[in-house]
Amino acid sequence: MDNKIIRFLDLSVRNISEREDFIEALNNCLDHGQLVMGKEITNLEESLSNYVGRKKCISVSSGTDAVYLALKALGIGPGDEVITTPLSWIATTNAIYMVGATPVFCDIQDDLNIDPKTIQKVITSNTKAVISVDYTGNMANYDELNSVIKLYGLKLIEDGSQAFGASFNGKKCGSYGHIAAISHNPMKIFGGLGECGSVFTDDNEIATKLDILRYNGMVNKEYLKYPSLNFRADALQASFLVKRLKRLSSKLQRRKEIAQIYNDSLSGFCNVPTQTINSERVFYTYTIQTNKRDSLSTYLTNNGIENKIQHPLLMSEQQPYKDCKAFTPKATEIVKTILCLPMHESLQNEEIEYVINKVKEHLA
Ligand SMILES: *Cc1c(COP(=O)(O)O)cnc(C)c1O
Repeated sequence: MDNKIIRFLDLSVRNISEREDFIEALNNCLDHGQLVMGKEITNLEESLSNYVGRKKCISVSSGTDAVYLALKALGIGPGDEVITTPLSWIATTNAIYMVGATPVFCDIQDDLNIDPKTIQKVITSNTKAVISVDYTGNMANYDELNSVIKLYGLKLIEDGSQAFGASFNGKKCGSYGHIAAISHNPMKIFGGLGECGSVFTDDNEIATKLDILRYNGMVNKEYLKYPSLNFRADALQASFLVKRLKRLSSKLQRRKEIAQIYNDSLSGFCNVPTQTINSERVFYTYTIQTNKRDSLSTYLTNNGIENKIQHPLLMSEQQPYKDCKAFTPKATEIVKTILCLPMHESLQNEEIEYVINKVKEHLA
C-alpha cells in the first residue's frame, strides 16, 4: 500500500460494457436530437416511478431544485415555518430559505437521522411542513414521522437524495412524504454523469403543478400560471441514468459487502453505522462516530487514506441560519464525532483491510 492513495470516492467509469452503454445513449441522443425534455425524460420518469413504486416522477435539473420545487408545489412560502434535521447537505435548508419560508431545526438520533420526537419541541402555529432526510443512506423512521405530521396536519417532504434504493416497511426511498425529492448528481448512489434530480408524488394535481413549475410556470408555453424559473432536465443525463439503473442493485450489493467488512472489524473501536428498524439501508457514505475524530482524520490522511467530515457544521450553525429556531442538543455533540471512510464499489478488499488496520491502530 506504500505511496498509494485510497480514494474516498471514485467516479471514473472503467467497466467497458458500462462505457459502451453510455456511448450508445449519447449516440441515440445525437440521432434523434431531442436534447432537453422529450422521450428520454419520459423514459426516465417511467423507469423511476416503477422502480420507486410511485404514481408520478418529474425529472428536474438537480436535487436542490427537486427540494425547492417540492416546497413550491405544496404552496409553502413567506410566513411559513418548515422543520428539518440540522444534519444534512446544506441544500435541504437552502431550499426552505429560497422559497421564502423560515427554516426551523429539531434534533437527531444516535443514527444521525431526524428525531421525530423532537419535532414537537419546535412546532408553532406557523409550521407547515417537515423535511426528513434519509441521511447517509439510512431511512428515517417514517412510522414515527407520519404519526407526528398527521397529528399536527403538516406536509411531509422526503429528501431521499442519499438513500435511493433503500426501503422502509418494504416501500422504497422516494415513496414517503406528500412529495419526495432525490438527487442524481454524480456523487450520489444513483447519479448521472452530470446534474439531475427527481421529484416523486402520488398526487396528480401536485404532479401537474410540478410539471408547470419546472418550466417558467407556463402551461403549453402559452399561459403563465405560476411565475417560476427553468428547472428542466436534459435528455443526455436521463438516457445515462436509464442505462445506470440496471447496474444499481449490484452497486448497492458491493457497497453493502464493504460496509459489512468494516462493521465486523471496527465495531469494537468506534460507533459503526446502524439501520432503522423495519428498513433496508444503502451506503451512500460509511460514517463512523468517535471522540478521536479529528486526530483520526489527520492520521488517515497522513497514511494515504482520503476521508471526509460530512458535514463539519450543522446547517443550523451556518452563519445565515444561526439565528433560526433550533432544538439540537444531541446533534451539536454528535457532529463533532462523525467521519466518513472511503466507500465506493471499486474499493479492493486489500484496500479495505488497510483502512481498517489504520483506523484500529489509531483508536486502539
Ligand atoms: C446532494 C443532496 C442534495 C442536493 O442535490 P444536488 O443534486 O447536488 O443539487 C439535497 N439533499 C441532500 C440530502 C443531498 O445529499
